[in-house]
Amino acid sequence: MVLPLHAYFKGKIVPYEQAKVGVLTHALNYGTAVFAGMRGYWNPEQEQLYIFRPLDHYRRFLNSAKIMNMELDHTPESLTQITVELLRADGYQRDIYIRPLAFKADEAIGVKLHDLQDEISIVAMPFDRYVTRDTDAHVTISSWRRVDDNAIPARGKISGTYANSALIKTDAIRAGFDEALVLNQDGHLSEGSAMNIFMLRDGVIVTPPITDNILEGITRRTVIELVREELKLPLVERSIDRTEVYLCDEFFMTGTAAQITAVTRVDFRPIGKGVMGPVTARLRQLFDDVVRGRHPKYSHWNTPVYAKETQKELKTVIPG
Ligand code: PMP
Repeated sequence: MVLPLHAYFKGKIVPYEQAKVGVLTHALNYGTAVFAGMRGYWNPEQEQLYIFRPLDHYRRFLNSAKIMNMELDHTPESLTQITVELLRADGYQRDIYIRPLAFKADEAIGVKLHDLQDEISIVAMPFDRYVTRDTDAHVTISSWRRVDDNAIPARGKISGTYANSALIKTDAIRAGFDEALVLNQDGHLSEGSAMNIFMLRDGVIVTPPITDNILEGITRRTVIELVREELKLPLVERSIDRTEVYLCDEFFMTGTAAQITAVTRVDFRPIGKGVMGPVTARLRQLFDDVVRGRHPKYSHWNTPVYAKETQKELKTVIPG
């Protein structure tokens, strides 16, 4: 993986090498950090880099921080503004991934959330595909369970939670699968290791509700809107049983990194005809147009990095 060029660190944009923390940092020892993961998409015709839904990502970021008792003196708008400035310093003309992190920065022993210093860092680096077989993934059902809202809230993007995702992912990869689907404490499907899930069954798109221990995915929300508005297909949010996946017609996973990944086999059983279905294929195309700023109806989701207007617009909404 290519390292970032710059970092937003301690309130400034600095060369990435200067953004360092000590080994005793609270977040590194106890997982007391929250993060976001956004993508920037390059549009070669317009010579523009578009950040996809940064305000929504930062809203969730600040919500995650709230769960972890952090006091960050920022708004979604101010964080978006900093991200635009960082990306201008980087000067990328390609697809990228953006990683904001808010962490308990004290170098101190003691498991707690209160009376600790909170810091923010943001970095961005070149990024392409996350799931290699994104048109024909083979997934398994993990033997691990998803963290419960009463243990570590899955709806927040909390660093410590990702020990759960890492256990899930590594077992799946070592067993020869591309990903794993995870059951929640009730035995219903929640999501993948870092992606939300959707199935098409008898003409209806189904996805688990946000109360089934899932991350409240921005791509999930995007897909729900595109399914209803553009595909005009019925969509319901309800719990999904394990065996429904074996019997569905199409299945796909959504996430900033995974984008829309078609799943064509689950535990050696073909889904539908065992190849990517037409609904998934259409959604993938639609999604790519939307994120690259080629669909005017959804241009409010694209924040341009290199347009002069960007800064002006954002400045007007930053308080103070
Ligand atoms: N679930 C988990 C556990 C994730 O880590 C992610 C990636 N952020 C997602 C779902 C997808 O969320 P989003 O579409 O907001 O990236």
